[in-house]
Amino acid sequence: MLPYGKQTIEKDDIAAVTEALTSHWLTTGPRVQEFESAFAESTGSGHAVALSSGTAALHAAMVAAGIGERPFDEVIVPAITFVATANAAIYVGAKPVFADVNPNTALIDPRDVERKITPNTRAIVAVDYAGQPSDYEALRDIAHRHKLVLISDACHSLGGSSGSKPVGSLADFTCFSLHPVKQITAGEGGVVVTDDSQAATKIRRFRNHGITTDHRQREVQSRHQYTMETLGFNYRLTDVQCALGRSQLQKLDRFTRRRNDVARFYQTLIDPIPFLDVLESRTGVRHAYHLFVVRWNSDQTGISRDQVFESMRSREIGVNVHYQPVYEHPFYVQRFGNQTGCCPHAEALYEKVLSLPIFPDITEADIRRVVRELKSIGEQAKTSKRKAA
Ligand SMILES: *Cc1c(COP(=O)(O)O)cnc(C)c1O
Repeated sequence: MLPYGKQTIEKDDIAAVTEALTSHWLTTGPRVQEFESAFAESTGSGHAVALSSGTAALHAAMVAAGIGERPFDEVIVPAITFVATANAAIYVGAKPVFADVNPNTALIDPRDVERKITPNTRAIVAVDYAGQPSDYEALRDIAHRHKLVLISDACHSLGGSSGSKPVGSLADFTCFSLHPVKQITAGEGGVVVTDDSQAATKIRRFRNHGITTDHRQREVQSRHQYTMETLGFNYRLTDVQCALGRSQLQKLDRFTRRRNDVARFYQTLIDPIPFLDVLESRTGVRHAYHLFVVRWNSDQTGISRDQVFESMRSREIGVNVHYQPVYEHPFYVQRFGNQTGCCPHAEALYEKVLSLPIFPDITEADIRRVVRELKSIGEQAKTSKRKAA
């Protein structure tokens, strides 16, 4: 099965991990800071804090931003995202409020964000769907006018930029994931970046139970006492993982360029196919192409996206679907009631989208085969539709 996404691990990545494994510190060691410094530099941000997952990064950003400190806090999130984006608001006791997306980009629609603001709104979370930076200019303006915190869920968009500004320098807090399908990997892992040094300190404590020192600091200072000032978790990333993350980060630009080449090649092959269209790219941004997403036209072909999904899977092509509107999941219906109709563009888009395989090592032959199979499924369907009519 050709996967929709996968990691690229090279010899020097393996060497970096082996070196970390044979060093004294497997966790809370020097490789954590080395990775964080390199990550902060690469994302144009003042501080980077490594955590055990992208989900932990989102949770930490919510805590550092003070979300959930008041009883009825609300956080605006796009309807189309991975569930973790909205779940993070619930972790801190806030309510996720869903904003619709632009039907051509699947990015959060700033106008709908503005409509969904109430006196309880505390933050906006933008998701850089598929790897494309959201409209941060408009979102920063809204956040500024309404005194809201702007959080970027950039789990798809490491390596992207808007104008000359890298993703990581566009919001108050930016959260990344290091899961194997993402731009670079540490096995699992996440990072929060911010320019706010106090917030960064808060996040460092939060990932270590809310304790003010870590194991290594106490060893260096020859002390046993520690102080826990706030409630935290064990959300640490190990030195072994940071060694891999650091090694991978050096390849980010090459991976991003390769993903853009793959996307351009897909685009040229798909352009002439009438029943397929590619999501729009915004001008002035560098897309990180975590995903390559097409919309399937069911009216023209007479078959649904799910039928195409199944046909592609039976042909050993691991297409995927990103994402069902979060509020349709049973947990959300139970907790917040039925919200059908709240984000009509998101609901319509979910019926059409299909993510095609994209990763740095995909071959030109694989890309051609993906498009050839899609085209043949659509053309066969059109023929049987005509015969039936
Ligand atoms: C992957 C992802 C996450 C969660 O990251 P993990 O590292 O898997 O916890 C959150 N939001 C989005 C949009 C993602 O794609």
